[in-house]
Amino acid sequence: MVTWHDVRELVEYDSKGSPVVSLYLNVDGSIRSPIKYAEVLHQLVRSVRTEQAALGADETACAALDADLAEITRFVGAEFNRESWRGLALFSCRDQGFWRAFRLPHAVADTVQVCHRAYVRPLVELMSTLGRSMVAFVDRRAARFFCIDLGSITELEGLQDDVPGRVRVGSTYGVADSKIEHSIDEQIRRHVQHAVEHLDRHVTHYQPDRIILAGSPDVLPQFRRLLTNGLARLVVGEAHGLMAIAKPDDVFSEAMETIRRSRSAEDATAIRRIREVAGPGGLGVLSTDATLRALFFGAVYELVVDGAVTLTGHRCVSCGRMYAEGCACPECGESRVEAVDDVIESAVELAITQDARIRFIGPESERIGMDGLGALLHFPLPQAAAYVRPAREPDMGSQR
Ligand SMILES: [Zn+2]
Repeated sequence: MVTWHDVRELVEYDSKGSPVVSLYLNVDGSIRSPIKYAEVLHQLVRSVRTEQAALGADETACAALDADLAEITRFVGAEFNRESWRGLALFSCRDQGFWRAFRLPHAVADTVQVCHRAYVRPLVELMSTLGRSMVAFVDRRAARFFCIDLGSITELEGLQDDVPGRVRVGSTYGVADSKIEHSIDEQIRRHVQHAVEHLDRHVTHYQPDRIILAGSPDVLPQFRRLLTNGLARLVVGEAHGLMAIAKPDDVFSEAMETIRRSRSAEDATAIRRIREVAGPGGLGVLSTDATLRALFFGAVYELVVDGAVTLTGHRCVSCGRMYAEGCACPECGESRVEAVDDVIESAVELAITQDARIRFIGPESERIGMDGLGALLHFPLPQAAAYVRPAREPDMGSQR
């Protein structure tokens, strides 16, 4: 299973100039047999060899590439056991002894890239689209907790409290009934409080993007009421029809529908929030260039990415600012630049190293006029001064 820590490690990996092969393979058992995905892998390997030869890679580079591709082929054919995995993401740089293999519970599009860096965009898109969700189930005696990560479910530590059953109406306890009832109510309340504390610990540990509640109708409203504000903010809905003995797979199917619905609502809210605070001196930016500038200042709290856009651009060799259009750096006026194949991908990588949250959104981004990137900021950006190249270099010595 892949974590944000792994992705950050990939982004920060320095291959010291050696090529890194990044390969994504769809191994989804519902559409492909092992023979079929081995065939697709073979085609990917052939195509990348041809492509690198056409680009004029020298003998050493071709040998390094062959070693990486041989290791990938060996891994998929001999070591990888599909079980219920649906995707594979492999990163290899044999030259530097670097190898990472991630089994994914979600299908990915087949792709291979050879570059001096790991190609992480598909991985980040997958992680940010599905995110991490938690399901909390509570009834009169038990509480169960599940973590849904990248489309697979794990049951976490739950709890069981010894709460007696309610007295029946007209029982022989007579006047004592109401006292017993009161005591049972109090025990249920303590049990629910116990469940809330348990959930809070899991949330602190797993940091889910959202929580889905489930449970018996007599206890669920109380559970909701007792949640702290921090927990309540993460609740996106309820999954109904689950029993205390539900299997994790049943919990998964029930919760997935709520997760999908909440994802599109969350995207819409994120964009609305940015729009509300956008504008000069504001805490939101809605264009690619303004977002690249915000990343340059380390101001991005949440990066919003249109998954369909790729955009070539430049990186200033003097200050490092990325930009998509123009012939000189908008920050310092430097005209020497490095070409950037895809500023959107580079922006995603930069955001990861800055610990920003990342949200890939679907086609609805077009409707609000976003041209690839947008962001919610930690602090407003300094006003952009129209850059005027100085007539001569300032004399630094005279200022000392
Ligand atoms: Zn610059």
